[in-house]
Amino acid sequence: MDITAQSVWDNCLSFIKDNIQPQAYKTWFEPIVAVKLTDNALSIQVPSKFFYEWLEEHYVKILKVALTKQLGESAKLVYVIKMENTYGNKQPFTEKIPSSNRSALKSQDVDVPLNNKNRELKNPFVIPGIRNVKIESQLNPNYSFENFLEGDSNRLARNAGLAVANKPGGTSFNPLLIFGGVGLGKTHLAHAIGVDIKDKYPEKTVLYISAEKFTQQYIDSVKKNNRNDFIHFYQIIDVLIIDDVQFLSGKSGTQDVFFHIFNHLHQNGKQVILTSDKAPVDMQDIEQRLLSRFKWGLSAELQSPDFETRVSILKNKLYRDGVEMQDDVIEYVAKHIKTNVRELEGAIISLIAQSSFNKKEITINLAKEIVEKFVKNTKREVSIDYIQKVVSDYFQMDVSTLQSKTRKRHIVQARQLAMFFAKKYTKASLASIGSQIGKRDHATVLHACKTVDNLSSTDKQFRKYVEDLSKKLSL
Ligand code: ADP
Ligand code: MG
Repeated sequence: MDITAQSVWDNCLSFIKDNIQPQAYKTWFEPIVAVKLTDNALSIQVPSKFFYEWLEEHYVKILKVALTKQLGESAKLVYVIKMENTYGNKQPFTEKIPSSNRSALKSQDVDVPLNNKNRELKNPFVIPGIRNVKIESQLNPNYSFENFLEGDSNRLARNAGLAVANKPGGTSFNPLLIFGGVGLGKTHLAHAIGVDIKDKYPEKTVLYISAEKFTQQYIDSVKKNNRNDFIHFYQIIDVLIIDDVQFLSGKSGTQDVFFHIFNHLHQNGKQVILTSDKAPVDMQDIEQRLLSRFKWGLSAELQSPDFETRVSILKNKLYRDGVEMQDDVIEYVAKHIKTNVRELEGAIISLIAQSSFNKKEITINLAKEIVEKFVKNTKREVSIDYIQKVVSDYFQMDVSTLQSKTRKRHIVQARQLAMFFAKKYTKASLASIGSQIGKRDHATVLHACKTVDNLSSTDKQFRKYVEDLSKKLSL
């Protein structure tokens, strides 16, 4: 009987089938088509590059054993990757990737006519079976440019966003990468750009998606064996917004697929907008080729807003919510919550809630209570001056008395407590603490810290001092 590619492969399959999980067999081996046998080289066609990599990673050993059984020690395996490109006028092409050389299987090039049936496009956002559904943008209309207040901290990013919205794909800001810390408005700005584009260009397909959801969809598509549909879906988007791309770090499969989608969109003049909590240089475990793409366009940072901007953000929010609040209260909140707009808004919302539940007037004192709760969580850095002030107040003495050379016991104790808390709550060195608290040296500070430790475990009254002061200082 003639040995054909088909018969060799069938024998391999029955061996493999006996040796791996049925689900794995179904997923990874049933889609393979044997295409050619020349000398001792069997060519098999796989649906994608990813598929080939997966086989090489997980099944190269069993493939080798199976094929050697059929064709002897000199057996070779050649992968042919089926690539479908149904967009543009490009002819479908075949990519040949040799099997890796870490096995004894050797590689060889072959030409195989492509099987290019037009596959139906699947939208991961809709239930299969429902066709021609318009792609929902997943945009939040509440996040607009209008209520994204401008300040020095966000001017570049905001204006670049506006430019992109006016001419998606038509500026050099492609991709536009917006980066910055938590709660500084990345998601808001990303939506605002999308919302504005939808407004100006209703016919454009805009899609907002978090990198996390994108990753999940990708994993599902691999499981369901429709990775190509996934890619095709994303390749027809005009404006693709991916939020929190730092989530892709370490996920090489998703990065790979995103790389291909990105290239396709970019080459076709489509706009890509990305957000990240880090600058590209600081991103870890993101492939270099992807990082370099991120830098093609513009990376614009969102920084913490200055005081004026914080006040206008709060006023704007109150105005939109129809709540009136005194300026001094607003300023108090803006003064004490500095690094995060989300917390700023959170504080105002709890302030409004508190006052309406308890029918309390919104006063500075109420604001203090609320703000303290927010600030506590973010660990405010206290200064040595502040510590000396709190300790002197507690013992009802002046700061100058606390710092004086006197050896009166209660003053020495107060000074030692100030040193102890300075060590505990600041990053200052012993020497620097000593020089700020009455020009003492570092040994004195060290001694003070030990004394406080000892006394608070032996002296009940002293322990009370430490507890009281801790409370005062940790607010
Ligand atoms: P990030 O995605 O950077 O963590 P978000 O976009 O979720 O931050 O913003 C947190 C909150 O702060 C949101 O409610 C957003 O509307 C608000 N915010 C941030 N920056 C501004 C700004 N410049 N003007 C108005 N609101 C802002
Ligand atoms: Mg966000």
